[in-house]
Parts: sequence; C-alpha cells; structure tokens
Amino acid sequence: MLFNTHSHVDTNRKFESDRDEVVARAREMGVSRMMVIGFNREAIDVSVAFAERHDWVWAAVGIHPTDALQWNDEVASALRRAALNPKVRAIGEVGLDYYWKDEAPFDVQRDVFRQQIRLARETKLPLSIHDRDAHDDVVRILEEERADEVGGIMHCFAGDWTIAERCLALGFCLGVGGTVTYKNNPVGQDVVRRMPLDRLVLETDDPYLSPMPFRGKRNEPGYVKFVAEFVAQLRGISFEEVAQATFDNANRVLGIE
Ligand SMILES: [Zn+2]
Ligand SMILES: [Zn+2]
Repeated sequence: MLFNTHSHVDTNRKFESDRDEVVARAREMGVSRMMVIGFNREAIDVSVAFAERHDWVWAAVGIHPTDALQWNDEVASALRRAALNPKVRAIGEVGLDYYWKDEAPFDVQRDVFRQQIRLARETKLPLSIHDRDAHDDVVRILEEERADEVGGIMHCFAGDWTIAERCLALGFCLGVGGTVTYKNNPVGQDVVRRMPLDRLVLETDDPYLSPMPFRGKRNEPGYVKFVAEFVAQLRGISFEEVAQATFDNANRVLGIE
C-alpha cells in the first residue's frame, strides 16, 4: 500500500511505447494511489484525463517554472477551471528552477510562482513545489505569499535541515524520492532521518532520478517501493510503517478520503 505523490508516467515521452505496462507494474509493486503532474498548458489536460480514467489516480495542475513563459490569462483560467475537477488535488508543480538557465527568466519564474500560490489559496488547494537550486527564494516567497494557509508538498526535497525546518514550519510535507538513496547525498539522508515521520511523503518523479539500484536508468512509478525500503532502513523502522505513514500523510495533505 504505497502512495506515489509525483509521477510523470501520464505525459512523458519515455513511456510512449509501454505506458500501460509501466502502470500495471506499478500496481503490482504495491502502488495503490498516485498523483500525476499536469506541469504545463498541454500536460494539464492530459493529466486530468488520466486521473479521470483511473480511480486510484489524482492530478496536480500548474505551470512548471521552466515553462513560466506560457503564463497568460488563458492559462490562468484553464488552471482555475481544472481546479474545480474533483480529481485535481493540488496546484503544481510550481516553483523556481535556477538550474535550467535558458528556459524562463528568473524574474518571470518568481512572478508566475507568486500568482500560482495566490491561485492555490483562492481555490483552497495545497501546492506541489518544484525547487531546483533556489531554496532561499522558494521558501521566502512561500512565506511572503502566506502559502502556510494551504500547505502542500516540497516535491523532491533537496534542501538541508535549516531549509527543511522552514518548510515544516509552513506546514508542508517533504517529498522524498530516488535521490535519498544516492551515496553522495548525506544531507538528504540527514533530513529524512531527522524529520517527523508524519510529514514525509514518497514519490518517484519518474522518468527522472531513479533510486538505487537503477540510478541512471529510466525511473518508473513502481520504484517508489525502493524509496520506501531505503527510508525504512535509514530510520530503523519497518517497511510497513513507512508505507502506512506516508500513505496517510499523502491522503491528508491532498484531502483524499
Ligand atoms: Zn520537479
Ligand atoms: Zn516533476
């Protein structure tokens, strides 16, 4: 019984030839609930339709920071419309990406991020946050825009313990995925060891960031199982305890019964 809170299996080209098998395999590996991410104008419709086709799948909708130049009135109203769909349970992934420097200017990213936090508060939906190399600005903007009113998930959390504490103070859960299993990630492992278990949610962010022993290969939603196993080992608790806690946390933060 695993809840994978961040998958791109519905839209990513790497699943073009075997999407149905990958989804079936995820079910076999214990994924009983999942959230897919409509991360730009085109993906929004695909993700919502995918969630509508599968009773165990929900969707987030938002404009990813690297697609921030797509932002306009039509996109904003498409998001507002999608937010009314009962299968849509978060605004995301939204945030800042200072790694991909040629996609969208950082000031545009910050503006689009602020507008989508306001949309989340307006629609009373939690946020799924993407933060790449932008921890300080992401947390500062979340604080300034009162994101604590809705909370959400810091997807693929990559900050240190100081950043983690600020996100936890805002009421956010930390999304833990494949990167925690990497040998060269003692900071991420430290956070996962110290954080309260009732704020931890699991994800894959497939097809990217495969957990060990699949690092470098295509990730898939079922591999969340390996992330759960690693977290259990790291915290010295059972796999079942991790699965149950993270399943409950995801349902709570996303408002799923
Ligand atoms: Zn992301
Ligand atoms: Zn993602």
